[in-house]
Amino acid sequence: MSPSPDVLRSEIQAFFDDELPRVLDGVTGTVNRAKAWRSALFDRGLAMLDYPEELGGRAATKDEMQVWRSETRGRIPREDSVFGIGVGMALPTVRDHGSDALKERFIKPGLRGEEIWCQMYSEPGSGSDLASLTTRADLDGDEWIVTGQKVWTSGAHHADFAILLARTDWDAPKHRGITMFVLPMEQPGVEVRPLVQMTGVSEFNEVFLDEARLPRDWVVGEVNGGWATAVALLGHERQQTGTKSMSGATHSRSKAGRSPIPVAQLRELAERAGRREDPVIRQELARLHSGEQIVKWIGARGAHPSIGKLWRTKQGRAAADLAAALAFPASPAWGSDLSVDRNEADDYFAYHILNCRGMSLGGGTDEIQRNTLGERALGLPREPGPDRNTPFNDLPRN
Ligand SMILES: Cc1cc2nc3c(=O)[nH]c(=O)nc-3n(C[C@H](O)[C@H](O)[C@H](O)COP(=O)(O)OP(=O)(O)OC[C@H]3O[C@@H](n4cnc5c(N)ncnc54)[C@H](O)[C@@H]3O)c2cc1C
Repeated sequence: MSPSPDVLRSEIQAFFDDELPRVLDGVTGTVNRAKAWRSALFDRGLAMLDYPEELGGRAATKDEMQVWRSETRGRIPREDSVFGIGVGMALPTVRDHGSDALKERFIKPGLRGEEIWCQMYSEPGSGSDLASLTTRADLDGDEWIVTGQKVWTSGAHHADFAILLARTDWDAPKHRGITMFVLPMEQPGVEVRPLVQMTGVSEFNEVFLDEARLPRDWVVGEVNGGWATAVALLGHERQQTGTKSMSGATHSRSKAGRSPIPVAQLRELAERAGRREDPVIRQELARLHSGEQIVKWIGARGAHPSIGKLWRTKQGRAAADLAAALAFPASPAWGSDLSVDRNEADDYFAYHILNCRGMSLGGGTDEIQRNTLGERALGLPREPGPDRNTPFNDLPRN
C-alpha cells in the first residue's frame, strides 16, 4: 500500500543514510555496485514507487513521487546508469505495452537489478530516419529468427537482454512493418564488438545478428505495430537523457554517461585555476547555475521531454566549454597536467570536454528534437516525405 508522504520521507532517508552505505561498503566494480544498490532498493520496496503493487511498486501518488525526487536528488549512486536503459526505458515500455507473461517474466528481475538491458534501434543506415531500419525478423515455428546489424548500442557488452526493433513486413509502408522484440543477448547469433570513442572509453558497440533467436511471444505490443511502442520508449529515453540526468550525485566524478558537469565542480575548477574572481568567469558560472536550475524546473513542471533534452544538451556543452577555458592549456590533452596538484580530476574534465558533443546525438539529435517539438507540441505541418505510404520494398535504401 502507498505510504503517507512523511512516512515515505523517513523511509527514504533511513535507506540512504544507514542502509546503502553498509550495502556498498567494500563492493567494487561499476556493475557489481550497480546491482548491489538496485537489489537493496528493491528489497526495501523503494525501486519503483509508481509501479502497480503486483509489479513490485507501491502505486505512489504524485505527491509521494515528489517526495522521492526531492529526497533522492544528488544521492542516487552514479553506477545506476547501468540500468538507465532497462529501468528507465525498456521496463516502462514492457509495463505499458507488454503481455502479462512478459511483465511477469521481466519487470521484477529488471527492477531488482538482476538483468541489464540495451537498446537496439540504430543501424548503419538508420539513425534519425529510424523507420528505414533493415534488420529483419522472420517467424519460424515457435521462434523469430533475426538477422542484421545494429550500431551505437550503449552497454551491449554487459547486457542480458535487448529491446530490439526489426522489420517483419517488407510490403507495408516503412512505419507499419516494424515489430518490437525482447532479444536474449547470450546466444551464438549475437556478436558484440566494442567501439572506442574519442574519450578513450568504450560505452557503445556494433552488434551483428546472424540468425539470432527469440521466443515467438516475446513481442512488445503488436506484430507490425512496433512504431507506436518505439515512440513510447523514445519518450522515456528523452526524459531519461533530459531533466532526469541532472539528478545524479554532484560530488560524483564519473567518466561515463551523459550528464553535464555540475556547476559546483566548475566553481572548484575556477578556484584551482586561480580565476574565481575573474568577472568573465563569474558571469559564465552564474549563467550555468541558472541553466542547472532551469533544467531541474523543466523536469519538475513535466514539460515536453524534448525541451528537457535540448536544455540538458545545451547545458552540457556550455559547462564543458567553461571547463575547457578554465583548464586550458591542459584540457585538450588527455591525461596532461592541469596544475602542480595533478589528480584524476584532470582526466575527468578532459573526458567531459570530449564527450559532451555526443550528448547532442544520443536519444535523438538536437535537430530531431526541434522537429518533434514543431510537429507534436506546436502543431506545425509534418516534414514532407514521399515515403509514408509506399511499400518499404519499393523505397530507395540508405
Ligand atoms: C553516446 C551515444 C549513445 C547512443 N546509444 C544508442 C543506443 O544505445 N541504442 C541505439 O539504438 N542508438 C544509440 N545511439 C545512436 C543515436 O540514436 C543516433 O546517433 C542518432 O539517432 C542519430 O543518428 P545518426 O548517428 O545515424 O545520424 P544521422 O541520422 O545520419 O544524422 C546526421 C545529421 O543530420 C541531421 N538530420 C538527420 N535527419 C534530419 C531531419 N529530418 N531534419 C533535420 N536534421 C536532420 C541530424 O540532426 C545530424 O546532425 C547513440 C548515440 C550516441 C552519440
